[in-house]
Amino acid sequence: MCGIIGYIGKNRAVSVLIDGLEKMEYRGYDSSGVCLCNEDKINIIKSVGKINNLKERIDYNKIFSYTRGIAHTRWATHGGVTLENAHPHRQGKVVIVHNGIIENAKELKENLQLEGYKFESDTDTEVIAALLDYYLEDDFLKTIEKAMKKLIGSYALGIVVEGKEDAIYVVKKDSPLIIGVGNGENFFASDIVAI
Ligand code: GLU
Repeated sequence: MCGIIGYIGKNRAVSVLIDGLEKMEYRGYDSSGVCLCNEDKINIIKSVGKINNLKERIDYNKIFSYTRGIAHTRWATHGGVTLENAHPHRQGKVVIVHNGIIENAKELKENLQLEGYKFESDTDTEVIAALLDYYLEDDFLKTIEKAMKKLIGSYALGIVVEGKEDAIYVVKKDSPLIIGVGNGENFFASDIVAI
């Protein structure tokens, strides 16, 4: 079973997120990834295998001051265990991590391809990212509402959107997701209880 963690606050996001991923390692996973953001910059790093492999790929100098992000350990259901299929997935301005299964992903993907979307992975997750980008409007909650109506299946999602610098979005249906809200100063991944 995969794991999702997101953080937005005053601390260094990479430390909180990697700490969180390591805390969830016991759940099992085949690959991992992280999206780190700072104002207008979005940096996605992924790796197949152990979280140590992911840590080795991170250029800490580059993302040292980043204070927002989402991270994921994957247990593949759609598409093999490859770097392309590891999360996060980006389409347009939308970056997401996902736990769960989208049953109508094939049909949605075909429709989005007709709209001009190109896909880099075999995952159902990238389809959700494209769907959110397709419905993107200023009020992102409306975007979420429209996109989720099209999905059949289960999902817990962590989402960041280019141009919406002060937020991470979370959505769930039939997949576990725990949200911890701190004051941005004294928040540690070890305070989160995974289920
Ligand atoms: N269905 C997604 C995938 O295969 C998410 C799997 C998961 O829950 O880790 O990438």
